[in-house]
Amino acid sequence: MSRTLHQPLGGNEVPRFAGIATMLRLPHIQSTEQRRALDAAFVGIPLDIGTSLRPGTRFGPREIRAESVMIRPYNMATGAAPFDSLNVGDIGDVAINTFDLLDSVRIIEEAYDRIVEDGITPLTLGGDHTITLPILRALNKKYGKIGLVHIDAHSDVNEHMFGVKIAHGTTFRCAAEEGLLDCDRVVQIGLRAQGYTSEDFNWSRKQGFRVVQAEECWHKSLTPLMEEVRAKVGDGPVYLTFDIDGIDPAWAPGTGTPEIGGLTTIQAIEIIRGCHGLNLIGCDLVEVSPAYDTSGNTSLLGANLLYEMLCVLPGVTRR
Ligand code: MN
Ligand code: MN
Repeated sequence: MSRTLHQPLGGNEVPRFAGIATMLRLPHIQSTEQRRALDAAFVGIPLDIGTSLRPGTRFGPREIRAESVMIRPYNMATGAAPFDSLNVGDIGDVAINTFDLLDSVRIIEEAYDRIVEDGITPLTLGGDHTITLPILRALNKKYGKIGLVHIDAHSDVNEHMFGVKIAHGTTFRCAAEEGLLDCDRVVQIGLRAQGYTSEDFNWSRKQGFRVVQAEECWHKSLTPLMEEVRAKVGDGPVYLTFDIDGIDPAWAPGTGTPEIGGLTTIQAIEIIRGCHGLNLIGCDLVEVSPAYDTSGNTSLLGANLLYEMLCVLPGVTRR
C-alpha cells in the first residue's frame, strides 16, 4: 500500500526566506487525523525557566526553525532519504506555563503521552535541558527502561539546584532515580570543566553510565568511539539527547552555560551518524539561546543536527 508522505517545501517553489517557518519547511500538522498518520515529528518546547545562568532558550525552537530553511531532503554523505520512507511533520510547540516550572513539566509529560499514543517518534527542539525528564517519563510508560546517548558539557546529575529537585542540571539523576533509565545502557559524552567536588562525574559512573570526558575526544575522530557506544547501548530502546553546549562555544556560542574545550561540529555529526542502527525512540536538541547567537550559527547547527537525527531513525531508507 502506497501512501503520500509529507515533503519539505522546495526552494524553487517558494523562496527559502519566504513563508511561515516550520522545521525543514515541512507542513505544520494540527489535526488529529494528520498527526496519527505521522511516523516522526518535530516539536518545540520553548522553556527556559529551568536554566541557571543565561536565559533565552524559550526562543530556541523559533530560531532553529528559522535556520532550518536551507536544509534539503537528501543526506549526501550517508545516503539517508528520510522523506522517502517516513511521514514527517512539524507539530508546533508545547504550550508550557512560563511562570511555573513544575506545571510546565506536567504539561510536557501530558503532551508527550499524546505523542506516544499517536505513534509519533518525537524530535524535540528545546528549550533548556529540564524538558528531557518529562519526555523520558512519557516514553518510559510505553518502552520501559530506556538507554541513553547524552552529549553535554555537563553531567546534569546534580541532586538539587538552589534546593530545587527539578531543573536543567538535575535531569539525569531524576531520570535514574525514577527508574526511567537502563543505567547499564547510558553513555555521556563531552563532559568537562570544573565540578563542585572532584567526585562529580563519579555519581554517573557508579550508576553504570559510561562517561566520556571531553579530553578523551580531543584531536580525534569519534567514529571508533561510536562502535563502543553501539555495543554498550545494544538493541533496546534508546533516546538521544544533545545539549548544544557539548560543542565548543567557538561553534555554538548561543547557549546558557558555555564551557571551553568542547566537541567540534564534525565530531557532533560523527556521534549522531554513529547512532545509525540503534533502536532510537526519540531525540532532542536542547539549550540553544538565540540572544547569545549573534550570527545564527548555533541555531543553524542545531537545525542540522536535528536533521541528522531524523536521518538515523529506524525505518529511514538509504540510497
Ligand atoms: Mn544539559
Ligand atoms: Mn550543558
